[in-house]
Order: sequence, then C-alpha cells, then structure tokens
Amino acid sequence: MTDVLSVRPLLTGTQKYDKSWSTHNNGFGTIITAPILAYLIETKNGRILYDVGCDYNKVIKSETYFQSNDFPYGPPQMTQEQRIPSYLDRLGIRPSDIDLIFIGHLHYDHVGGIGDFLNSDIHIQKKEILSVRDNMTPVYFSDDISRLTSGKMIIMDGDYNVTDGVQAISTPGHTAGHMSLHIELPKGKPIIICGDAADLEENIKEEIAPGLCWNDQYQTAISSIQNLKEISKREHAYLWPSHDFNFFHKLKSFPDFYN
Ligand SMILES: [Zn+2]
Repeated sequence: MTDVLSVRPLLTGTQKYDKSWSTHNNGFGTIITAPILAYLIETKNGRILYDVGCDYNKVIKSETYFQSNDFPYGPPQMTQEQRIPSYLDRLGIRPSDIDLIFIGHLHYDHVGGIGDFLNSDIHIQKKEILSVRDNMTPVYFSDDISRLTSGKMIIMDGDYNVTDGVQAISTPGHTAGHMSLHIELPKGKPIIICGDAADLEENIKEEIAPGLCWNDQYQTAISSIQNLKEISKREHAYLWPSHDFNFFHKLKSFPDFYN
C-alpha cells in the first residue's frame, strides 16, 4: 500500500548553460535553458518536498552571488511567483505545513531555498554532507549548507523507505551522496524523480553521465542511470529527468497533479 496522495512538479526557476554541463563530452556549444524543479509530494503521513530550488535572495542580487567567471551563461532566473512558498500559498498551504524536505543533492539550484523550510525535518545523505565539507566549488554556497545544517537535519545513509510508497534510492555520480526518489501513486504508474542523476531524457536513453561528476566518477553516474532504468523497467515506472524543458512541458502543469 502507498501513503502517497499526489505529486506536483514545481518550476522554481530557469538556468542557461552549455549543454555539455548536462551531457558529459556531448553538446559543446549548444546553449540550453533548463528548468529548475522541485516536487511536492502529499502523503497520508505528511507533506514532502523533493528539493527546494535556488535562494531567491541570491538570485535578486545575482551580480554579487553569480559572477560571470563561474556562471558564464548568466545567473539563474527566478520570479517571485516561482518561489515555492508562492506555489504552496496557491494551494492554501504554508511552508510550516511541509513535514519533510528531501534533498537530492547540495548544489545551489537544489538546496538554496532551504531558508523557507527550517521548521521541517530535512533528510540529507551522510556522504553528501561529508563530500561538500571537503570540497566546496562554485556550485555550492556555504551559507546554504550552514542554514541546512542549522535546521532539523536528519542524516541518512543509502537507500531507505521515506514512508510507505516513497523509497529513497541512492544514485551517486553527479555528487557523492546524490539521491533519487521512487514514488508509488494510488492510481497511476510509479514515478521516479531522477534529480540530477539524469538532467535530460538523453542522459537516460543514451546512458550519458552528467557533465559534472564528483571526483570525475562518470562510470558511477552511468551505473546509477542504469540502476534507475532497471527499476523503471521492473516497476513500469516513469523516469522524470530534472533539467529537461522539452520533457517538463509534457508534464501536467501546476496546480494539476499526478495521483
Ligand atoms: Zn546538480
């Protein structure tokens, strides 16, 4: 039995970049605009957010935080309406009504919005936290990480059951402790939120590693994609890539949901 009631993808912003950032050794010179997504999962056992997007307060001061040497294709773009609390407000939900924040990984476009959710439990992987402490690069903001660690952080290790029907799946490669989420719906086919284990549908179909991999672990990233594909085949589950606008446009738009 599944506790899941509904799943909603949320478009929290966009980011322009060279496609090779998504597809290792492929797509150099093609500039893409990628969605920055979070997902609201409502269950009988509480509300879960997978990822929380960028820090709005940094995006509106982008010249300070997203300098052109680190972000040559420009800063992320984000409107007030794309902030997660704005989406929740449209559903009559407050940020304090979110019980659990499930962080797929600690890059700025996935954890930056954590400041709105410091009353929620925050699940993060041990390997993810440890690897970031050792190796801060421009895709991490130290204050995002310190806000997260000042919150109600619960450190997890490997695969586990988040609640009935929601399974955390370890998908390392892009980062050391990257996590995907397998969700059983009450009616429809299961959904696997890949997170940045697969930015684009192409990563899944062609089994291409993300352009950026922790410690150059491209083969680990490919194994993670293959693992997700096997689960998807076995369970007849959808695989949802994280930064693919063509794919995102085919999904139901907010406030519509999957159930
Ligand atoms: Zn990432």
